[in-house]
Amino acid sequence: MAGSRDRHVPLRRCVMCRASLPKAELVRLVRADDGRYQLDAARRAGGRGTWVCRACAEDPAEKRLKQTFRGQAAHVRTLLALAIRGADPAAAPAPLDPRTGTEA
Ligand SMILES: [Zn+2]
Repeated sequence: MAGSRDRHVPLRRCVMCRASLPKAELVRLVRADDGRYQLDAARRAGGRGTWVCRACAEDPAEKRLKQTFRGQAAHVRTLLALAIRGADPAAAPAPLDPRTGTEA
């Protein structure tokens, strides 16, 4: 990779736990014109991004999820699960049961 210096790694803050992390460590969500959240896998869609760190995406705290995303909490939970599985399969060898959130 070009540029081995890491002084200018852009940090983004997780909307769930408020941790500041490099962009690569977070999942980006954007709101569509209708206000609905969508995954931004390429992290370059226009508009204002909402960032969620991997730890929160893998195991979102229900209360936080609802506080942050309100009526879209369940929808966002699904998006985060998809993002985690799709972004780095090696990091998530066991698929999570969508109903219990535990490893199947
Ligand atoms: Zn977080």
